[in-house]
Amino acid sequence: MSETTNEYQGKATMEKITSLAKRRGFVFQSSEIYGGQNGAWDYGPLGIELKNRIAQSWWKEMTQLHDNIVGLDAAILMHPRTWEASGHVENFTDPLVDCKKCKSRFRADQIPQQNISEKKCPDCGGELTDTRKFNLMFKTNIGPVEDSAGIIYLRPETAQGIFVNYKNVIQSNRMKIPFGIAQIGKAFRNEIVTKNFIFRTCEFEQMEMQFFVKPGTDEEWYNQWKKRRWAYYEKLGLKMDHFRWRQHGPDEMAHYAKEAWDIEYLFPMGWRELEGIHNRTDYDLVRHTEYSGKDMQYIDQESGEGTSVTRFIPYIVETSAGLTRNVLMALCDAYDEEKVTDEKKSGGSEGSGDDWRTVMRFHPSIAPVTVAVLPLMKKDGLAELAQDIRRELMEDFATDYDQAGAIGRRYRRQDEAGTPFCVTVDYESKNDNTVTLRYRDSMEQIRVKRAELAERLRKEIKEYKRAT
Ligand code: ATP
Repeated sequence: MSETTNEYQGKATMEKITSLAKRRGFVFQSSEIYGGQNGAWDYGPLGIELKNRIAQSWWKEMTQLHDNIVGLDAAILMHPRTWEASGHVENFTDPLVDCKKCKSRFRADQIPQQNISEKKCPDCGGELTDTRKFNLMFKTNIGPVEDSAGIIYLRPETAQGIFVNYKNVIQSNRMKIPFGIAQIGKAFRNEIVTKNFIFRTCEFEQMEMQFFVKPGTDEEWYNQWKKRRWAYYEKLGLKMDHFRWRQHGPDEMAHYAKEAWDIEYLFPMGWRELEGIHNRTDYDLVRHTEYSGKDMQYIDQESGEGTSVTRFIPYIVETSAGLTRNVLMALCDAYDEEKVTDEKKSGGSEGSGDDWRTVMRFHPSIAPVTVAVLPLMKKDGLAELAQDIRRELMEDFATDYDQAGAIGRRYRRQDEAGTPFCVTVDYESKNDNTVTLRYRDSMEQIRVKRAELAERLRKEIKEYKRAT
């Protein structure tokens, strides 16, 4: 598939996504009133709902649906020895070059190699500096005195918090190999180039699961986890022709990895990594044994004969996804522009035949608002009835209420927010206790009894299939 598909032409572009995200309160630039802070973004009212729901769906998939995976929430600040042991102090670097003329800064591995060998800036043709290594960890000080004894790092990945706790988890929860520990949390990297909105930022969130296995069974588990992670994205009803696998070559593999594959997504700017699945071997636990002096071996009481036990350092299979990068993926994947045809508009309430609508086709399980309740008119008790219905639904669903403006325009606002269902309360509702249920994707409207509404919504969410 080409870098930009027909699907993207005239539809989702980064400009459109960024502008919709700001206009509708998904994502704002951090510290905007001061001109913005590079590499940092704030999640607005719709954005935090979307991010939370993606996180919840991942959490359910990776913990609730397994009897051998548990959760953890480790601190961002860890003992600095952690990062020596993990290899980050030494190896977590990007190659950096600067242009002496226009002062642009590049990652040497992201510009054509010819520019590097000719020392020629890809932007202005000026002279480039030599390539130097740049450590991506944010360094700060803990305690009142700024000296080398107080150096501490903001974690560049959540994984190490899991490794240093793996024995605690075994002991407190009686976990037996194979088992996993899942974690969602912030990570920080001093990225040289931050661009493409929330794709690559200095502050971001990761969703990681580390699966501890017996050496020798790691390849089998690795393949299992590759399959499961692919199936997860399928389940979310995403455009699967925008997903592909990419294997890391030996020269680009992280220092700890034996095998590494990325799940890539076709963003408007091209194919990019969404999630990495890595066989980290016993690298991390061996290093933590060395640096902490603590025994990191797993004691296997069951596989030994009689009373004898076997001990080994487990291998680790890691699934590592960016939560904030998944938010961008969900926004790009959901984005659609559609001409409202005569057949589609119902009862004349959805505008004229050559209207266009922007519609975010989120799966209902991750949509920021699941159901919006709209009174046809504010007067004659319709607003009160609609508010009453909303109150009833809000216990079980993420709801919104909107009574301002023409009903067609209110539907458009909900389409743009990605709300899969609207419930409209009209004069008939007062007489016969029915409401209109309007579907975001098809714009179809049906009449439903108020008493059956919640059940109907639950069924629709469960059975949702995306049409386009
Ligand atoms: P990249 O090659 O894009 O820098 P990486 O291979 O260094 O990423 P990992 O260390 O494998 O990334 O991190 C796992 C996941 O964390 C990535 O797949 C991505 O979704 C997310 N991630 C990593 N760095 C960032 C970042 N700077 N901003 C947002 N998400 C990130």
